[in-house]
Amino acid sequence: MRTDKSDILTWLRNSEDYVSGQQLCERFGVSRTAVWKVINQLKEEGYTIESVSRKGYRLVESPADAYSESEIISRLQTKWAGRTLHFFESTGSTNPDAKRFAEEGAPHGTIVVADRQTAGRGRRGRSWESPAGKSIYFTIVVRPEFEPDKASMITLVVALAVAEAVREETGLSTGIKWPNDVVVNGKKICGILTEMSMTPEMNEIQFLVAGVGVNVNQDSEEDFTPELRGRATSLKMENGRQIDRAALLARILRHFEEDYDLFEKTLDLSGLQERYEALLLGKDNRVRVLDPAGEYTGISRGINGMGELIVEKEDGETVLVYAGEVSVRGLYGYT
Ligand code: ATP
Repeated sequence: MRTDKSDILTWLRNSEDYVSGQQLCERFGVSRTAVWKVINQLKEEGYTIESVSRKGYRLVESPADAYSESEIISRLQTKWAGRTLHFFESTGSTNPDAKRFAEEGAPHGTIVVADRQTAGRGRRGRSWESPAGKSIYFTIVVRPEFEPDKASMITLVVALAVAEAVREETGLSTGIKWPNDVVVNGKKICGILTEMSMTPEMNEIQFLVAGVGVNVNQDSEEDFTPELRGRATSLKMENGRQIDRAALLARILRHFEEDYDLFEKTLDLSGLQERYEALLLGKDNRVRVLDPAGEYTGISRGINGMGELIVEKEDGETVLVYAGEVSVRGLYGYT
């Protein structure tokens, strides 16, 4: 019944005109009663569906901020990204869930979405604040055919997809803080955590998971813990209106699918570098590289085809910074 609901909602959403009960029965091979039940269920969930005799059904409106498995599926415009979807109201963290599904054979593009995370994670064991009803938390599983040394570029591909999707969906201008923080007006709106699992022989990638957290509808600074105030923001705080999370998630997935397919053709960033650099913050400015092996400053000259940050140090030496355990800061603040 669950699948029928997503299928029927998708069909209604994508139809310009009324859809007759008969069409739905034939399309999905279910009875009239089953169709009628699903329509009633959707109405109970707050969907406004007009029924006109002899014409059929028409989706007039979704409930405000509908965020469920069927709602997200009905908005997908992808071939593989998000086509297998697991939705949780609450989970510890979507990355371990996605890894578990991947271990069990989940196909390329599977996503795990949660409305809330109780133990959201960032890089280097940090945490990601993940309140309910406000944000997007999802992890996508990819099954690359490429060598492990290419994997760190995926995190840049994801950042580009989020930055461009957010810009299109909200009209806000987004920037990327290398390698993968998405920033609006100098504050962080998105963090990405990519993790890799190797085959037992340790010579091939078994799968990658990329976890994404986007602050969407927090109303004010009060919605963040004191440590994050001044550094974090939400899309609603920046443009003053409620954002539809399902629509934004679907848009991120569409961009990611396109960009990933492009990346896979060359296995470097040549197809994406120009767009990435157009959004890269701090280019040609002085940056501070927080390398665990020692901090240093230099001028950021953008990225190379491998996604490494090119930094010119004071002594004239050019360093290629690898997107691993390193953070980069502007000289006077977070970006
Ligand atoms: P940075 O350069 O900010 O240190 P990072 O890539 O190392 O970035 P991430 O893994 O993206 O860090 O995210 C974890 C960090 O993000 C946390 O240490 C915290 O400072 C910050 N953070 C946690 N939750 C949120 C949130 N909801 N919005 C914005 N920032 C957050």
